[in-house]
Amino acid sequence: MPAGQPKVVPMICDWIKDLLNPEKLAPQKPATDQPTSQPEEPMRLSKHFTLAELTRSATANANGIDNSPGVRHLANLHHLAETLEHVRALLGNNPIIVSSGYRSPDLNRLVGGSDTSSHSQGLAADFTCPRFGPVIEICEAIRDSNIQFDQLIYEQGSTEWVHLGIDPRMRRQVMSWSRKAGYVTGLRKL
Ligand SMILES: [Zn+2]
Repeated sequence: MPAGQPKVVPMICDWIKDLLNPEKLAPQKPATDQPTSQPEEPMRLSKHFTLAELTRSATANANGIDNSPGVRHLANLHHLAETLEHVRALLGNNPIIVSSGYRSPDLNRLVGGSDTSSHSQGLAADFTCPRFGPVIEICEAIRDSNIQFDQLIYEQGSTEWVHLGIDPRMRRQVMSWSRKAGYVTGLRKL
């Protein structure tokens, strides 16, 4: 038995006593000149959009997939957030609810997105703006604005959402999509 071993038990007893010391268990009041600790500021990509909003994914969480972007995709997400600021202003400064932004290659494969999806580049967001109005009206407002985009898609599934892509080609394509009809040109209920 090593020489120091018998001291370990009394040391642990002291440590437990110390832990149970009521003075130490009592909540510590912060000194008046010390600011109370603030929750950590989320990383902002723009005034109204955080990195967390543009990368969160229930599917990624459920499947243990790391959905954090690399440096290049992070730069794209900054650009995406700036575009969403323009959309937000266009929609009367009503909050935009992003359902999907960046999708890492693993996540994109899992949700059945194509490998070349703008989402996997950090160059697309799916969203709604309930306080502004129906999804088709959001799409029409963006189509009729001078906001730059590559693809604007009125996507219709069990719910509806706007897909806005800002691939650098900036083709200004306007489409509608449903699983049954696929992609059709223009904005219409499918
Ligand atoms: Zn999308």
